[in-house]
Amino acid sequence: MDSILQIDNLTVSFDGFKAVNKVNTGIEKGEIRFFIGPNGAGKTTLLDAICGRVKPQSGQVMFFDVDVTRYSEHEIVNIGIGRKFQVPSVFTNMTVYENMELAVVKDRSLYSSMFHSLKKEQIERIEDILVTIGLYEKRFNTPIALSHGEKQWLEIGMLLAQEPKLMLLDEPVAGMGRAETDKTGELLKKIAQDCTIIVVEHDMEFVRDYASKVTVLHEGAILDEGSVYDVQNNQKVIDVYLGR
Ligand code: ADP
Repeated sequence: MDSILQIDNLTVSFDGFKAVNKVNTGIEKGEIRFFIGPNGAGKTTLLDAICGRVKPQSGQVMFFDVDVTRYSEHEIVNIGIGRKFQVPSVFTNMTVYENMELAVVKDRSLYSSMFHSLKKEQIERIEDILVTIGLYEKRFNTPIALSHGEKQWLEIGMLLAQEPKLMLLDEPVAGMGRAETDKTGELLKKIAQDCTIIVVEHDMEFVRDYASKVTVLHEGAILDEGSVYDVQNNQKVIDVYLGR
């Protein structure tokens, strides 16, 4: 298997406090990797370090064969790593379709001039993604008319429009009911055929159903890593997280 992301000895400190402490892990192509652990374990900070939001004190992040450790957020997006935050940030004064148009035009300063002249392949890409995320029928609605889950899927679609090779998702099913959660899981499975995914998640049922592999963080360090079965039977993981 090819490792597309390699994290070596990564440490991120805030005023001397190590939020991420000597983390080593490799993410294989096509994985749906879950980062789990108690609040304050360092999950979000690890995502922030991968996407260039925070700069590590030491260690390295390799994406394919490129050292992206010191890349800016903008450079990280351009190299093919997309990040979705917990709260959906879609444009509510535009339709679903227009949100997708905006996402597909990578240089947003060109958006107004390109608005009515997207290339054929860009239009096809938008339509394919709308079908994938289940919002094709609602493409002329504004996001105000969408459910919480549908807004999250739109935002995932907007990420997909940028053709990432790796997608970072922060609690994508928070606030969803079971039906929307399962639809999100099926969506992630489809996406993972072309784009590797890392998910920070608390919903253990979701993790059990959809994880290829799980990384358990505790106090900034990796406590365990492996299959869902392995980590949920590890007594240390039960003690600090699952048994609570
Ligand atoms: P998790 O996502 O697992 O809940 P976080 O990565 O958000 O954990 O936080 C890990 C630790 O780092 C926490 O103790 C948090 O308070 C601290 N932390 C996170 N971001 C900052 C920051 N910008 N400044 C200072 N401390 C921070």
